[in-house]
Amino acid sequence: MLELRDLQVAYGAAPALWDVSLDVRPGELLCVVGPNGAGKTTLINTIAGMLRARGGSIRFEGQDITRLPPHRFCEAGIALVPEGRRLFTGMSVLENLELGSYLPRAKSQRRQMLEEVIALFPVIREKLASPAGELSGGQQQMVAIARALMARPSLLLLDEPSLGLSPLIVHDMFAAIRHINGGGMAVLLVEQNVTMAMDVSHRAYVLEEGRVVAEGAPDDLLARPEIQRAYLGV
Ligand code: ATP
Repeated sequence: MLELRDLQVAYGAAPALWDVSLDVRPGELLCVVGPNGAGKTTLINTIAGMLRARGGSIRFEGQDITRLPPHRFCEAGIALVPEGRRLFTGMSVLENLELGSYLPRAKSQRRQMLEEVIALFPVIREKLASPAGELSGGQQQMVAIARALMARPSLLLLDEPSLGLSPLIVHDMFAAIRHINGGGMAVLLVEQNVTMAMDVSHRAYVLEEGRVVAEGAPDDLLARPEIQRAYLGV
């Protein structure tokens, strides 16, 4: 459903991605792992339309979206949960969620989507009127994911959803991500928590210094000595 071909992205004169090619298949849960500064956030922000590719192409559900403005990526059915969540902390949880469904096709189904995200994260119901900034880190991450789901995307992009959360909350978060994907939504997950990300994913890409250096089934990748050395401390 998503095809990146030879994607190049740079910040000014500094290249961040070199000829990255990657596919997300319908219904797939895919992860991109790699060390700090590998280009994972750059990659996911480019797929979300927030950064412009300097070269290469992005096709989504058969349409070339490479040069479309950011809001058209959203209209096409791509939703991003950005690194650091980026909630409007002074606004209520409900207002944050409603902002996720501002597009016409999502707006008409706002009530139903609200019930769906509350079913996924029940704690949200009692927090609807609270300022988002007053929630715990884990709760804020749930609201950030719920806000993205309110747009009714067909591809959900998650940038480091486990960042800064306790192990128990991380476990719940990955269970929720697996549940979302189990409903048929394609998910692209960028993570430094390699073990957890590989555990939930169907396929994985390893990104280093802006390049894809490995790709395959998580079990196959984790069996490779160089991956074990680099990411599992073996
Ligand atoms: P992290 O896990 O630390 O977020 P990452 O894999 O997501 O790392 P990116 O944040 O995409 O990596 O960064 C890739 C490269 O681009 C790095 O060399 C980084 O210093 C550089 N970079 C990222 N954002 C900017 C920016 N706004 N301006 C200039 N350079 C940037």
